[in-house]
Amino acid sequence: MTGQNPVFIPGPTNIPDRLRAAMNVQTTDHRAPDVADLIAPLLASLKKVLKTETGEVAIYPGSGTGGWEAAVTNTLSPGDRVLIARYGMFSHRWIDLCQKHNLDVEIIECAWGEGAPADEFGRRLTADDGHAIKAVLVTHNETATGVVSDIAAVRAAMDGAGHPAMLFVDGVSSIASMDFRMDEWGVDLAITGSQKGFMLATGMAIIGISQKALAATATATSPRCYFDFNDMINANRTGSFPYTPPMSLIYGLRESVAMLLDEGLENVFARHRRIAEGVRRAVSAWGLKLCAETPDLYSDTVSAIHVPSGFDSGKLVEHAYDAYRVSFGVGLGEVAGKVFRIGHLGSMTDAMALTGLATIEMAMKDLGYPITLGSGVAAAQEYYREAHHIGKSHAA
Ligand SMILES: *Cc1c(COP(=O)(O)O)cnc(C)c1O
Repeated sequence: MTGQNPVFIPGPTNIPDRLRAAMNVQTTDHRAPDVADLIAPLLASLKKVLKTETGEVAIYPGSGTGGWEAAVTNTLSPGDRVLIARYGMFSHRWIDLCQKHNLDVEIIECAWGEGAPADEFGRRLTADDGHAIKAVLVTHNETATGVVSDIAAVRAAMDGAGHPAMLFVDGVSSIASMDFRMDEWGVDLAITGSQKGFMLATGMAIIGISQKALAATATATSPRCYFDFNDMINANRTGSFPYTPPMSLIYGLRESVAMLLDEGLENVFARHRRIAEGVRRAVSAWGLKLCAETPDLYSDTVSAIHVPSGFDSGKLVEHAYDAYRVSFGVGLGEVAGKVFRIGHLGSMTDAMALTGLATIEMAMKDLGYPITLGSGVAAAQEYYREAHHIGKSHAA
């Protein structure tokens, strides 16, 4: 029965039955006319999720990392300068990818637990009066540290500096779970994947492309083929793909977007905020601290939690799986062994979150952590009752 347990890793996330059913299809001919009819409405509905009216959307077989590669190879040339801050494993890996593509990567080093330094971006861009910097790259939600960054503030810093660089945003663990506004924030490339907020199996990169980013493809000389934006967009216009598309994921994605829009994006965001706040109440009831340094940085999709000194978070995660068959996220990179992560995004409810909190409490207790069983669960329960306005009216 252990397969019934939800996962609390920050991706891949739990797959709702409705989406598992949608993905369970016999082979379909991707050149059939009814498949062609599916593409335009799907891309139009994805624009609603990304909140873009002026941009294009492309979907590729791949994952979030493929989305990063598509972003930089379509719009940049070897030797181009990009500006990026490193504050966790995902921003670190994006830097690595840029360096392997021979970009000139200007890195701002931040503590793991901080967010994107909008003011420092502004200073660097102001100093770059020759406009050598072609793009600013920002990890919206740093999944390794549970930190969400203020993309509007980064856009304001870029505009304040009067700098024409493009803005690329990794929204892999934020889009479809937390507020994301591609047009309003002037995002030129928005990157996500199928297996986080979209609640699907892994296997697809989803990319929002502004007209400015599309125009940059005309002069960008980085080698690209599989991820070529123009090949994909031109094929999609005729209802086709440049190669065999992952049809089961495409059917799943159509259903996923319908689920998100049926619930209402603002309700989806509010649900994530509520569930996350319950988890945060539990963390403070345990007497533990989040990796995210200040409340404005708290992610609503993943919480990275410091274990007390003398404990190894890797062992905690391993034990939770061995003993109870429930998965939590380990610490990555600089915070390996120091934090464990509770992923609370996608197909998640208050009740599911409570089972995760109860399980990690047992695992902590088993390993001698100084916590009281039920303390975190009770704090989250109180919060969820309050958030549902339950208490007074039902008490009588
Ligand atoms: C998961 C994740 C990625 C990487 O995605 P893959 O699908 O594993 O390639 C990139 N960025 C962030 C912020 C992520 O959470």
